[in-house]
Amino acid sequence: MAVRTADRAQPGPIPPSSLDPAALLRIGVADHLTRTAGPCHRPLRLAKTVLAIDHGNGQLRALTTQVVHARCGNRRESRCPSCARLYKYDTYNLIAAGLRGGKQTPDTVSAHPRLFVTLTAPSLGPVHLGPAKNGQLRPCHPRRKGQGPDCRTWHRADDRLIGTPLDPESYDYAGHVLFNALAGKLWSRFTIDLRRHLAQAAGLPRDRLAQEGTLSYAKVAEYQTRGIVHYHAVIRLDGPDGPGSPPPGWATTELLEDAVRHAASTAVVTTPEVSSVPSRALRFGAQIDIKALETDPLSGPGRVLTETAVARYIAKYAAKSTETTGIELRPLVCHTCHGTGTSHAELTTGESITRFCDTCHGHGRDHAAWTELDGPGVTAHARTLIETCWRLGALPGLDALRLRAWAHLLGFRGHTSTRSRRYSTTLAALRAERTEYQAALNAESTPADLGEKTTLLVNTWRYLGRAEIGSEQCGSPPTPAIHAGGPR
Ligand SMILES: [Zn+2]
Ligand SMILES: [Zn+2]
Ligand SMILES: [Zn+2]
Repeated sequence: MAVRTADRAQPGPIPPSSLDPAALLRIGVADHLTRTAGPCHRPLRLAKTVLAIDHGNGQLRALTTQVVHARCGNRRESRCPSCARLYKYDTYNLIAAGLRGGKQTPDTVSAHPRLFVTLTAPSLGPVHLGPAKNGQLRPCHPRRKGQGPDCRTWHRADDRLIGTPLDPESYDYAGHVLFNALAGKLWSRFTIDLRRHLAQAAGLPRDRLAQEGTLSYAKVAEYQTRGIVHYHAVIRLDGPDGPGSPPPGWATTELLEDAVRHAASTAVVTTPEVSSVPSRALRFGAQIDIKALETDPLSGPGRVLTETAVARYIAKYAAKSTETTGIELRPLVCHTCHGTGTSHAELTTGESITRFCDTCHGHGRDHAAWTELDGPGVTAHARTLIETCWRLGALPGLDALRLRAWAHLLGFRGHTSTRSRRYSTTLAALRAERTEYQAALNAESTPADLGEKTTLLVNTWRYLGRAEIGSEQCGSPPTPAIHAGGPR
């Protein structure tokens, strides 16, 4: 049960008219999106009870109880196109605020050094090539005899072979899933190295960097067709107090670009040594793409990107996951034993015994989820990646990576979309803006019989289950009587 409280002595919701025009525009667009995107695909049924606590005698009384429907809030387009649309819009606004200001981020950030960076995964063996970015067909891997596996096919964009290894026997499947599993750690090593290289380039001792500048970023992980993640990120260099402070004199876009290039090549994560899998050093691929960001869509010769294009690009991938590789699976571990294959039971004597899990009979798999792997949509390559996760996930020494639990995401367990604390605003703040607006609009509907003595309202929420698709008013999320909050 989620309990929300609000003190009537506190100031009420912000009147809609006092919101700034940019906020009103965001609220208006979000409202339009939710109305046109169709109903939520997985709505929740909630029982909402408003309780009033009488300050005079401490008595608790229920004012109203009603069943309300709430949006599922899923970010993935394939799960709920409607909620994903809203999520994408919020992500877009969050990224854009860090580039051109807005939502408490000063617009001076647009003059700070900032870059759009793509850090790719390394090669783990040649894979079939699809058409070029402009859609032009090209020969896959024509090689001379003796120069490794070749393929002279001009693969069309919908060819399922694209992204699968030319020679599955020699492809480094273990390296592939370990890269996915440790991509988040590699990113954090990259940010540490980036700060080090920045300090070096500025001629500062490492511990002085924070006194002169702040590094902010927002990133998204995108699955490449071969089923490995790579990162797209906005990286910005601010002054010591974050987005509101001017960067130091030494902070130029060129210096930031050099430091990014350097850090992308030096960042490394070493995998643990386990019996059948030798330790390896995981690094980003040699293909590093760094682009300057431009405010004016008409200026700039080829190398520049507009802020809008970048914000849209990141928002697009924030709403996706493995579907870009052609697969979409649910967790493959048994729900009862979480993949261990065992359960614990207490005997009448008080003794505890370990036995095979009754649900999966000891193999730790969710039978129905594994059956879906036999479907026509799953390539042999994807299946091998999943089986590699399963095999490595059982090895002591790699258990911390929880490869079995994340096998359906090909080992990747990081958050798809993240940003540093001082990048710009937060998704929660953008959502709160709408909720506060809605609460202000509904303030008049607050029960009028509270009386002077009643000072505290408590909203309680109870989950009742999934509602039927289309059965609810997803465009009108539950609005608490006083407090602008609700379960997410
Ligand atoms: Zn939904
Ligand atoms: Zn090919
Ligand atoms: Zn089980």
